[in-house]
Order: sequence, then C-alpha cells, then structure tokens
Amino acid sequence: MKTGIYIHIPFCKSRCIYCGFYSSTLFGLQHDYAATLIKEMYLRRSEFNGLGSIDSPNSVDTIYIGGGTPSTLPLPDIQDILNSVSECFPGNPREVTIEVNPDDITPEFVGRLHSFGINRISMGIQTFDDSRLQFLHRRHTSSQAIDAVRIIKEAGIENISIDLMFGFPKQTLDEWAADVQTAISLSPTHISAYSLMYEEGTPLYRMMSEGKIAQIDDEASLSMYKYLMDTLETAGYEHYEISNFAKPGYRSVHNSSYWHNVPYLGIGASAHSYNISTRSWNIADIRQYIKAVNNGTLPSESETIDETTHYNDLVTTALRTSDGMDLDSISPALRQYALQCAGIHINNGLLKHADNHLKLTREGLFVSDMVMGDLIKI
Ligand code: SF4
Repeated sequence: MKTGIYIHIPFCKSRCIYCGFYSSTLFGLQHDYAATLIKEMYLRRSEFNGLGSIDSPNSVDTIYIGGGTPSTLPLPDIQDILNSVSECFPGNPREVTIEVNPDDITPEFVGRLHSFGINRISMGIQTFDDSRLQFLHRRHTSSQAIDAVRIIKEAGIENISIDLMFGFPKQTLDEWAADVQTAISLSPTHISAYSLMYEEGTPLYRMMSEGKIAQIDDEASLSMYKYLMDTLETAGYEHYEISNFAKPGYRSVHNSSYWHNVPYLGIGASAHSYNISTRSWNIADIRQYIKAVNNGTLPSESETIDETTHYNDLVTTALRTSDGMDLDSISPALRQYALQCAGIHINNGLLKHADNHLKLTREGLFVSDMVMGDLIKI
C-alpha cells in the first residue's frame, strides 16, 4: 500500500493575524522537538509496516514537511529528519515537499534542501502587495517572494507551489487581478488560492468584531474566484481541486492523497494520521509532545471511522476535486442515499453524475459548501 508521511514543524518567527493553526515562537525548543520527531518515527515503525501485507508491503509514496514554518528549522535537523524517514519507513517517495517562507530562501539553503532529496517547494506568498503583507503580519516583502521563486528554480527545484489569498478588506478586482498576473509571470507549477478567512480567536477576527475592518461582500469574493479560475485555466493550469491549480503533471500527489482516501502517517505535535479504519491526532502542545514521546508513549487520541463517517469524509474531500466522488467506493445503500440527495443539484446544474462519479460543475464550485452540506449524512 502506498502511504504519505506528514511531518509537522509548528514553529513560526511571528504570528500572522489570520492564522488559526497551532504554532509556537519558542525557538529554544526546536532542536529537542526535531529529535523527538525522530523518536516518534521509531515508535511508529510497526504501525507503518502494519498497513501493508507480505504480498504488498507498505511503502512511502510522498513526504510532506509542513507547518508552521519548516524553513525556520536548521538544515542539519531537516537532514536528520529525512534520513530517519528513510530508515523507519521504506519506500521510494516520488514527491518530497517542504513548506517555506520567502524570507528564509537563499541559494545555499535551497541547494542543501535539493541535496537532501526535496523535489517540491510550497511557498506562502499570499499577495504581492507590500502594504497587505504588512497588514497580515507576514515577514516577507513582494520582491523577496519574487526573488525566492527565481532562487529555487536556479537551485534546480522546478516543482514550486505558491499560496495566494484573496478577499482582503477593501480589495478590488483589479488589485486581485494584479496578484494573479504576477503569480502567472513567475510560472510556478502549482498555485493554491484561498479567500481570507476570519477565524474566531485570531487577531483578524477581533479586528472585524471591533468594527476596525469589514469583510468584502460575497459578490466581490465570487468575482475574484471566477477571475482566478478563468485566468489560470487560460494560462494552462488545471483546476483540479476547489482551491488548487496545477500545470499538467504537477498536481500535489501528497495533498491528493487526503482527498482520495490514501493512508498517511502524521508525525509531530498536532499531526493527524489516517489508516482507512481509524483517524488519530497527536496532542497540540510542543512541551507535552516532547515529554510523552521521550517517555516512550504516543500522546495521541483516535476515533474509529465507521461507514457513515467514511461516506461524509468522501463528500467533504473527494467532491472538492475535479475527479469527484467515486460512487463505486461506497455501499449500495450509501450510493442510493448520495444520488437521492444529489438529485436536486443535478437537476439545477450544480452537480453532474457521470462514470459512476459525482462531480461539482463550475456553477457548483461557487456554492460547494451548500452542496456538500446537503449530501452529508447525519
Ligand atoms: S507562517 Fe503560516 S503557520 Fe505561521 S503564523 Fe503565518 S500562516 Fe500561520
């Protein structure tokens, strides 16, 4: 069985105002944390091997080092982590990704990442507008982001994904168009684009609650999304997931595994794992994580995935993709349930049913949350 390995690096030099992810600025813990990740890998070797069989042993297909900001980790730690992945989990991974911040990128740094076998870089750029980058409390500037793409390519890593955001307070369609055009001019192999979210507990949410900023209206946000879709498709990007676009042959293999029911092992504080029948997650606390793993225990909780949970997971993951939801992968009773719920949306042109798959149409993409909500089984 092919499996993905996810390694979580929950450290950031500063906190972006919109971010609801777990991460810490306690850099003094970084080295101990990296050593603990390696210990967790050794503790979980048998779990990994248990996913396979004698005839079909389990093997690593993808590795993804995400965060947080993995590019803040010292190079020797990154090298040790990758060496330990190959020692603990056999395989010949075809995609090895690391998330980076543009201001951490230097020719030396990327050259070393490349020499460790990293062949894909995912970079959080968000916008090329310096005043908005400051507003978000991002550490980099627009020119640093543009330089970083060039440096990564010159170091020999051509598979580059960039993250963009749209729907900032007072943002106009023209301003968003300028960001999309700059992104295209850099010719990354992959672009992810998300609308700015106001998550409770974040400084951004507080600013909105206090009336200091206002969300843009739904219509403006929708026209930005439409512009993104049309422009990237014209520029040769395939729209393969609601928020993800790739040049042909450059879909994210690792992220696609989340949407297509492939098992993955998540290593590190707050990392999630999935093995088809259960889902588990490590404690989201760096100190407690380090303490527990060093005592030989895994600080994790888990839940069994019953048939209905599995079905609901498919609705909220596979339906996000252009491949759609495979109705052959669920029981006849659930297939009937899905088709019954989908009927009205098929008639209204929001879903299509073809080759035993349910897929969102272009119009369906604009109201995907509502369509998925209607297919969920409570
Ligand atoms: S760098 Fe990423 S993980 Fe860290 S605070 Fe910013 S958005 Fe969150």
